[in-house]
Amino acid sequence: GARGDSLDLAAHDAPDARWPRQNSLSMKEWDIPYDELKLFEMIGTGRFGTVYRGSWHGAVAVKLLHVHSLTDHCLQLDTFKHEVATFRKTRHENLVLFMGACMKPPRLAIVTSLCKGMTLYTHIHLRKDKFTANKSVIVAQQISQGMGYLHARGIIHKDLKTKNIFLENGKVVITDFGLFSVTKLCFGTNARGDSLGIPPGWLCYLAPELVRALRPHASLHLPFSKDTDVYAFGTVWYELLCGEYPFKGQPPEAIIWQVGKGVKQSLANMQASRDIKDILMLCWSYRANERPDFPHLLSTLEKLPRKRLARSPSHPVHLSRSADS
Ligand code: ATP
Repeated sequence: GARGDSLDLAAHDAPDARWPRQNSLSMKEWDIPYDELKLFEMIGTGRFGTVYRGSWHGAVAVKLLHVHSLTDHCLQLDTFKHEVATFRKTRHENLVLFMGACMKPPRLAIVTSLCKGMTLYTHIHLRKDKFTANKSVIVAQQISQGMGYLHARGIIHKDLKTKNIFLENGKVVITDFGLFSVTKLCFGTNARGDSLGIPPGWLCYLAPELVRALRPHASLHLPFSKDTDVYAFGTVWYELLCGEYPFKGQPPEAIIWQVGKGVKQSLANMQASRDIKDILMLCWSYRANERPDFPHLLSTLEKLPRKRLARSPSHPVHLSRSADS
C-alpha cells in the first residue's frame, strides 16, 4: 500500500513528492522477485525467520521471515522496507553482502551472500575450538572494524552475538544486523500475545539498560544503542577468551538480577592479561557512556602486546595474516 512505499528516506525529499523518484527506483533495484529464487535445503531457523541455501545468480542465503499475522500488513511492510533500506547502505569486508529482498507479503525474504565456514558460536561452543589470545585479538579487531563501519553509518546491530559472526578462512563476516525490529513482523500480534521470550544465550549479550527494560510483551521497544552493541561485543570477547558464556549455567532470573544491579561475571579464574580483562570490563560498564566506541576498541586491540606465534602444524596460522605485520 501507499504507506508501505513511503520509506523513512522519503522524508528527506521534497515534501510534496509522494513517490520520490530516486528512492522508489533504488528500492526497486533491490527487489528480487520471489520466483527468481531457487531454494534448496534449510540451513537453520531462528527467532525471526528460516534460512535456506539458495541460488540467485550464484549461491546465496535466503532468510524467509516468519509472518504470523496477516493483519497489520502495512505496518509490517514498512518495518521490513526500513530494514532493507538499512541493509543496502552496507559495503564492508567484514559484513555479509546484502543482495536484495523479496518485498511482496506474505513472501518477505532477505537475500545475502552465503557465508562459508562456521560461526564463532559453532567454533567456540559446539566444536570447543580454542582461540589463542592472538587469534582472539585478530578476530576481535575485525569485528570492531565491521561494527565501527556500521555505527559510522548510523546502523545499530541490535543482535551482535557469536551466532551472527562467521569465520571464513580467518576472515570475520558479521550477519543479521539491524534485523531485530523485524520482530514486529513476527511477534507483534501473534495469537498467544507472546513476547520475545528469552532464548538461551541471548541474555548475556544484553546491557544493563536493556535488561532493566525487559517487560513481558514489550521487547520491541528495548533501548538499543551503539553502547548496547559494545556491551554485546564484550560478551563475544569473553566467549573468545574463555570458551563459554558469562553467567554460565545460571537461570535467566539470576542473570537478570545481577546484570540489572551491575554485577558482572567474575574474571578471577580467567587466564588473561590485565589489558585484556580491562577491555572486557570497559565494554561491560554499567553506565552506557563509559563504554568505549569501536574505533577506540580497535586502537586498544592493536596496541595489545602480541605473544610470539608458535607455528606448529597442529595450529595452522591462517588467522595470522595481520599478526605478521
Ligand atoms: P536468531 O534468530 O536468534 O538470531 P540464529 O542466528 O541461529 O538465531 P538465523 O540468523 O535465522 O538464526 O540463522 C539460522 C541459521 O542460518 C544459522 O545456523 C545461521 O548460522 C545460518 N545463516 C544465517 N545467515 C547465513 C548466511 N548468510 N550464510 C550461511 N548461513 C547463514
